[in-house]
Amino acid sequence: MNNIYFKVIKIDENKRFKKNMIKIIKMSRENQFYLINNYLNYEEAELIYKDIIELPSQFFFKSIFPGKKDERIDIREFLGFQNTNNYNNYKLYNKKSYENHKFSYCFSRTFDNHSETCNCAHCKLNKYFRSENMLKRFSEIIGKKVIDLNETFISKYSKDDFLSIHSDKGKGDYAFTYQLTKDWNPSHGGILHFVENNEIYKSITPTFNTLFIFKIKDVPITDHFVSQISVDNKIRIAYTGWFIVDETQNIIKNKDV
Ligand SMILES: [Zn+2]
Repeated sequence: MNNIYFKVIKIDENKRFKKNMIKIIKMSRENQFYLINNYLNYEEAELIYKDIIELPSQFFFKSIFPGKKDERIDIREFLGFQNTNNYNNYKLYNKKSYENHKFSYCFSRTFDNHSETCNCAHCKLNKYFRSENMLKRFSEIIGKKVIDLNETFISKYSKDDFLSIHSDKGKGDYAFTYQLTKDWNPSHGGILHFVENNEIYKSITPTFNTLFIFKIKDVPITDHFVSQISVDNKIRIAYTGWFIVDETQNIIKNKDV
């Protein structure tokens, strides 16, 4: 295994100050990974966070795979749903699948199926992240023209939630996750780990206002997972989706996006 995976690009101190300490870390694997700290300005990130926290629970579904009959279950969240028999049965089967190395997951998410006039946190984020300026910024990070986003959602991981190893192949050209998690450290779980030959070679700890992008299409290995949350009363929050890019259009990369 190659141990030198990182290439850190530091921008000068003045720019660093102006740009709110933006740092782009790229891995040497043919520009597969991009991590941008302080992606939006802090006030903006706080407003988005507040919007998500205040989103009523019925916007969220506990998404469980597999359920009892190997099916995917999406349970609309309401007070006490975790105490229902059905939920507990699904969870038991789900846990067994996870322990037996089967693809499985359990976390809360929103869906991308609201009315056109909906102004919820998810719909606002969709509009913002699809705006011309934002698509341009994404394009300047990855050096390819980003033309649209596919299947976005807000995810919330709380105690025991997890996402087992999978590749994202077929979802889009690049995956992105905009992190809004606060007050976290790696021992709380919820780490995005990348795996090759059963070894972890890259780990991303949820950090507030950080954008992480990774390439899916035309790269040999994209296997990754989110480690199980080990703490009570804490939530890992992210806005996630996939970029569709126009491969024929190269964009000049900009370190100061
Ligand atoms: Zn909405």
